[in-house]
Amino acid sequence: MTDVLERFMRYVRVDSASDPDNASVTPSTARQHDMARLLADELAELGCEGVSADGHAYVTGALPASPGAEGLPALVLCAHIDSSPDAPAEGVSPHVVRYEGGALVAGVVDGEPVQTTPEQVPDLALFEGQDIVCSDGSTLLSADDKAGVAEIMALLARLAANPELPRPRIVAAFVPDEEIGHGAALLDVESLGACGGYTVDGGALGEFNYECFSASEATVTVRGVMVHPGSAKDVMVNAITVASEFQQMIPAAERPEHTEGREGFYHPTDISGTASEVTLTYILRDFDAADFARREQTMRDVAAFLNGRYGEGTVSVEIREQYRNMAERFGPGDRRLVDFALEANRESGVEPVVVAARGGTDGAQLTFRGLPCPNLATGGYNAHSVREFVPVSSLEKTVEVLERLVAKFAAPADGAGA
Ligand SMILES: [Zn+2]
Repeated sequence: MTDVLERFMRYVRVDSASDPDNASVTPSTARQHDMARLLADELAELGCEGVSADGHAYVTGALPASPGAEGLPALVLCAHIDSSPDAPAEGVSPHVVRYEGGALVAGVVDGEPVQTTPEQVPDLALFEGQDIVCSDGSTLLSADDKAGVAEIMALLARLAANPELPRPRIVAAFVPDEEIGHGAALLDVESLGACGGYTVDGGALGEFNYECFSASEATVTVRGVMVHPGSAKDVMVNAITVASEFQQMIPAAERPEHTEGREGFYHPTDISGTASEVTLTYILRDFDAADFARREQTMRDVAAFLNGRYGEGTVSVEIREQYRNMAERFGPGDRRLVDFALEANRESGVEPVVVAARGGTDGAQLTFRGLPCPNLATGGYNAHSVREFVPVSSLEKTVEVLERLVAKFAAPADGAGA
């Protein structure tokens, strides 16, 4: 068993799901400390400097640069230690399946095979005759993001054992609660002494994201006018009726179920209330800054239109920004974070595919806090599902990609003087 596979099989057995119902506390679950402590111990064993696992389950540690690269800025490699609460995540029991084509069966649950067909994941054809890690079908696998954690740790172990392999100082940053929106929020970016880095939290081998959605959440409050229904004529304004009008006025073709690629959307996520007051929650997403602003404006325009019809103050909209497209903050000097990643993939025999991430990444908030951080693939498939899997060859190849990538940062940047 290769080092990265051994680590992966071991890490996924450590329960570390986050809990959206306890999101006001970081980490949201005490069990994430188990994973944090384990990683801190292993970083220290590898000879990393300044290793810490703090009270919020953030783990950091730095592997020294190779000889000659000591004066260069550090590079951050970041992954998250929590697993998604969207599927059963406790007691993960991973196993390696030799995939011989057809459906990939993770396990049998309640007499039914838990499987992925080539129709669902055409990439399966690439892995015929190979080993694939699956859960037993009763839980997710947690390749999101234990694969990223294992790949970073395996890289560090390889570099530690081979001090001459070129790299700048590498800062490992493992963060909790990414799946519930916290992720790198409490990471002390300034203390890392780095000018950039990568999250390792993506999908299929070769996928690379340096753009992500801009995101906000809109809370729409509809206040009705309640009177006895028997004497309501020309007086009553039913908040439920107005709320349904509001939703009908939001462009129907711009919903998640009708959009893909670089298209943004409006997505109603929650509705609650009574005839006298209704609260609607939407998430708004787009890549382009102007289109994103237009979406926010549409929400306000619809509210204004309905207020014209039913009276001022009937509908109010409050918009809260969640994260922004990280590409907006990439300066010309950050271009090599993109170029090097694409080159490292190609040199490893992997054709890179640049995908605008239809979601956020830890890297997005790190980028906006001054640490540009595109997202690299982990090799995993079917995240947040009991059908989640990762081919062993993808785990191993990712370590190779990382090794080539960090080597590129061991030379001074162009124009920085040699
Ligand atoms: Zn993830």
